[in-house]
Amino acid sequence: MKNILIGNWKMNLLPNEATELAIELNTLAKESKNTYFGVAPTFLSLTQTLSIKDRSIKIGAQNCHFEDSGAFTAEVSASMLKDVNTDFVIIGHSERRHVFSENQELITNRAKSVLDKSLTLVYCIGETLEDREAGRTLEVVKEQLTPVLELINDSSIENLILAYEPVWAIGTGKVASLDNINEVHDFIAGMTTAPILYGGSVKPGNYEEILNLKNVSGALVGGASLKFDSFSELFKISEN
Ligand code: PEP
Repeated sequence: MKNILIGNWKMNLLPNEATELAIELNTLAKESKNTYFGVAPTFLSLTQTLSIKDRSIKIGAQNCHFEDSGAFTAEVSASMLKDVNTDFVIIGHSERRHVFSENQELITNRAKSVLDKSLTLVYCIGETLEDREAGRTLEVVKEQLTPVLELINDSSIENLILAYEPVWAIGTGKVASLDNINEVHDFIAGMTTAPILYGGSVKPGNYEEILNLKNVSGALVGGASLKFDSFSELFKISEN
């Protein structure tokens, strides 16, 4: 199975900057032998990056609504994303859960709409520092994972990528220890055969040892995906 390396660009990069970076990264994707390599720009940059010439790099969205259309101001539906050939959709990112207060029911509905449209679902789960300190990490991961695994059948499992992202490690420079990552990834691997990415301050200096862990299939990367130099370093590690 290929390694998976996905950049989450969050609310960064103007449309032309996003397109330029996607074009540069596409040169790597075209040569790739061993990596599912993608980025998730803002909605505003989606169609421009989806239409770059000779595109091999996967382009994804950072969220979507569960209805096809309707009175849902500022939302974009999975059917709209499907229509412009979006490759994957990230759902349940910790910023959506904790900054924008998306609850599990909403997140599960969003995930269902992605799967119903046969788009690849990158589903994020992870505990807060408070959860971890209370010894609730595995319980929280199970609570977040179970409703989405209930949507999965023999064919849709192909469209599921999981991302374990401890909330306290995202954008903070704090990386979970290899033991922490191992414990949670092994636990998740006991629940499903879907590939499991790690996310949380992944950088060229720490990626190789994380990727070498048994149940780690790649990474979801924020900060280090915004610059060609750092993201191409991660790509090289993924290819080797
Ligand atoms: C993320 O946004 O999913 C993420 C892991 O961010 P960072 O790599 O910056 O911690």
